[in-house]
Amino acid sequence: MQTRFSQLSHHLYVHHGHVNTGILSDGDRALLIDPSGTTFCATLSELGITDIEQILFTHHHRDSTAGFPIPDNVRVGVPAKEAAWFSEVETFWNDPQYRWHLYNYHPHNLMLANAISVMDTYTEGVRFEWGPASLTVLETPGHTDGSVTYLVDVGGERFAFSGDLIYDEGQLWDLYSLQKGQQTSDYHGFLGARDELTESLEKIRQTSATTLVPTHGVVMNDPNRAIDSLQQRLTRCYDKYVAISALRHYFPKLFAEFEGSPGHMPIREGKPPPEFLRHFGTTWMVISENGEAFVMDCGSPNVIKQIQQLQANSEISEVTQFWVTHYHDDHVDAIPEFQATFPCETITDSVVARVITNPIGFRLPCISPSVTRVDRITRDGDSWQWNEFTMTAYHFPGQTYYHGGLLVEGRGVRMFFAGDSFTMAGIDDYCSGNRNLLGKDAGYEKCLRRIQQLEPTHIFNCHVDPAFDFTDAEMQCMLDILAEREECYTELFPWDHANYGMDEHWVRCYPYEQEVAFGETAQLRVEITNHSSEPRTAIAQPILPNAWNMELAPAETTISARSDGHIDFSVPIPRHLDASGKRIVVPVDITYDTRPLGQFREAIFVLTGG
Ligand SMILES: [Zn+2]
Ligand SMILES: [Zn+2]
Repeated sequence: MQTRFSQLSHHLYVHHGHVNTGILSDGDRALLIDPSGTTFCATLSELGITDIEQILFTHHHRDSTAGFPIPDNVRVGVPAKEAAWFSEVETFWNDPQYRWHLYNYHPHNLMLANAISVMDTYTEGVRFEWGPASLTVLETPGHTDGSVTYLVDVGGERFAFSGDLIYDEGQLWDLYSLQKGQQTSDYHGFLGARDELTESLEKIRQTSATTLVPTHGVVMNDPNRAIDSLQQRLTRCYDKYVAISALRHYFPKLFAEFEGSPGHMPIREGKPPPEFLRHFGTTWMVISENGEAFVMDCGSPNVIKQIQQLQANSEISEVTQFWVTHYHDDHVDAIPEFQATFPCETITDSVVARVITNPIGFRLPCISPSVTRVDRITRDGDSWQWNEFTMTAYHFPGQTYYHGGLLVEGRGVRMFFAGDSFTMAGIDDYCSGNRNLLGKDAGYEKCLRRIQQLEPTHIFNCHVDPAFDFTDAEMQCMLDILAEREECYTELFPWDHANYGMDEHWVRCYPYEQEVAFGETAQLRVEITNHSSEPRTAIAQPILPNAWNMELAPAETTISARSDGHIDFSVPIPRHLDASGKRIVVPVDITYDTRPLGQFREAIFVLTGG
């Protein structure tokens, strides 16, 4: 790539690589802000800089901190609140609470693979002089909890290096970094960090900085206009989210200020389920006239006890089929025990089966380490008879992409078991990590069209006792708002489709984690979803540990419009390493559509044997 840099002032430059690196120069020495990768080194030579004295990072994300081997004598400074996420990253990578049952996403897994030494930690108001400049630290959380902004006063002007708070006028680098719980876990907090983000942007506005330099993005010379535009867009995007959010059913207090907002879908009343259904925990059970039971999901051993109780009371004879709606832990944790207790056929959608039969291969919200045996994998529209009922299975990418839906017809009703995808208040897309894709024939658009076509008399959610349905007008309201969202969320990101900013997993490693033995060759696949309406080229390169003394060549693929592609790597594991049981983080460097993204994703190798 060609070296590109711009000069902001006599002593201040910005190198435009996969991120913007600030270069404050004083003769042949420099202070760098957010150096990542090595492309800025060419700019340094061009500027005659031979001595990197000091490095400052705005936040801990690997895609703006990794890739440059920092020499020992360089002074590294980071936000005090994130210091551990630079210098003790092993704590994160080795702690199961950051791997399984994920309901909280702070800190985020976009973290350095290997720790770096930190000398200075910065809190609000810290000031210091460097060469011709004076620097001030502002705590500006939002993109991450501990992000800071460095104000650089030099040559009579004030520049704000604002991290990833804002990408460009009215734009953000991504939205999933703003997933944050307010009164509950991060899981329920779609855009939950927007207030923090707004306050941080206001704080920057008040400094009267003349220029904003984002880590990802475009240098902004009219900070007020850039910030105003972003705030307006975020307000609209959040309104379009709340308007049809299923969360209004679970946590009405969170949305009190939106009561009576124009265009928001009213919340429906429920209706009683047919008498041959039972509901306990997240499990629904259909009881046939012959006494046999069809069970859906098993999240806890209590469900097993309750089924046994029904057997003891002769309300049911035996469980003969079992359906899994989706991979979340509160639906699958107790399946191994259930399968040992009730020998019956386990059926699920092919996309769900991929996760629950090999959960170690995925890193997703609410993921359970429980491995589920699946006896029959269904494709979209597969139908079968179970006693007096006709069952039809669908891929149903609602609450998560890895989700199925089941139509159960019989005894005069058409019941649709939607997993967790709907409540009477609307759609369940409050966790961006679940991959709720926008667009035609994707995500909830696909689910709503399916329900329009099937016209169920009852819709069921695993967490909700009453059944419910939607009127034609409500269905249309949800579809219209989804279409508006596609448009207003696309404006928010520097991509040609909103899904790049919203779908955290558009680039992912498979398997995410795997056990590898010394001397073997491991297989690693980098999967990429092209959310654009044209083909795109992707380049990936796994970055192996220094100690392995080995480099994998980058590889490339072209992916058709709106589809998945992948790049396969064979990774030779060295024969002699003294690290049995050690978890090795292998970051993957990505370039997409000629845009370098740095160490954008990672895979984990767990060394065994030796
Ligand atoms: Zn970031
Ligand atoms: Zn769920």
